[in-house]
Amino acid sequence: MARLEKASEPSLDLDVWEGDEPPPPDVLHARVRGVDGIVCLLTDAIDEALLAAAGDTLRVVSQMAVGVDNIDLAACAARGVAVGHTPGVLSESTADLTLALMLATCRRVVEAAEDVRAGRWRSWSPLGWAGVDLYGATVGIVGLGRIGQAVARRLAGFNVTLLYSSRRALTKIGTLAVERVPLDELFERADIVSLHVPLTDETRGLVGEAALARMKRTAILINTARGEIVDQAALLAALDKGHIAAAGLDVTTPEPLPADHPLLARRDVVVLPHIGSASRRTRQRMADIAVDNLLAGLRGAPMQSPPPPATPEQG
Ligand code: NAP
Repeated sequence: MARLEKASEPSLDLDVWEGDEPPPPDVLHARVRGVDGIVCLLTDAIDEALLAAAGDTLRVVSQMAVGVDNIDLAACAARGVAVGHTPGVLSESTADLTLALMLATCRRVVEAAEDVRAGRWRSWSPLGWAGVDLYGATVGIVGLGRIGQAVARRLAGFNVTLLYSSRRALTKIGTLAVERVPLDELFERADIVSLHVPLTDETRGLVGEAALARMKRTAILINTARGEIVDQAALLAALDKGHIAAAGLDVTTPEPLPADHPLLARRDVVVLPHIGSASRRTRQRMADIAVDNLLAGLRGAPMQSPPPPATPEQG
């Protein structure tokens, strides 16, 4: 905020939403009318209706996140509105959180801590809260991009076998050899499946009944990408039937997940409130880049932008 208030090239007239919760769409639509630029969060739908409400003055949309699934990129392109996002600066924090979820689910950390608080810790027992080792496991990474690779670098210290499925081919991440396999094979072989693809038409529902049926009964699903990549009804059914062992989710559908949602009643599921990038340093860097992008876009200069949407001919 302070940087935007002090900005001189260009100087700005600011309208800031101060609410703790996202602005309702009708309020947002009313307040964007006639603006030149918008700094937005992943909770704001930047769709055709919003672009129409903003009108022809709008030149820049600057998102404080790397994922842009809340933004209709094609509609922005059609109207000549430049889009910015914040790739890279959040990869390490999100990878840290992914490892936290892997360890929490493998070693049943949340269940065990809840039992201690509730007075259910009676004594040490040979199989009390026994989980599985992350050390030496076979981990499958779906989407070996910036965050997927940051996760892989951390896993080198856990002596894992690392499988991945991505469109680009890599053979090593740092000192760790990685094996590219078809998605079905990844689901079949991995002890832990970790999702790091963006949410697109291609990846929506990628982990559904068929994928979950391929997984080992002892396998764990980790999702720090986007909730809609997983079919949550299929996940619940798979957990109920014992087709997989546990899940660690930083992202869900919807967000926030209602407190009475069946996923939250399960001891084999850890749900976090979308905090992958939530370290103070990373959030500050994301805010700085969002401001840089807005100012650059308003000047007509290049900014950090997501790849353009695929045209129908590209598939
Ligand atoms: P990235 O560098 O673009 O990596 C995404 C990877 O997914 C790329 O390697 C890409 O492969 C691969 N991919 C895309 N579509 C695919 C498909 N259909 N099948 C297989 N692989 C596919 O993005 P990132 O910076 O790592 O971020 C990934 C996502 O994480 C973001 O889009 C966002 O939704 C999520 N995220 C969540 C949090 C959180 O707070 N939980 C924080 C940050 C990001 P190719 O390049 O080979 O095509």
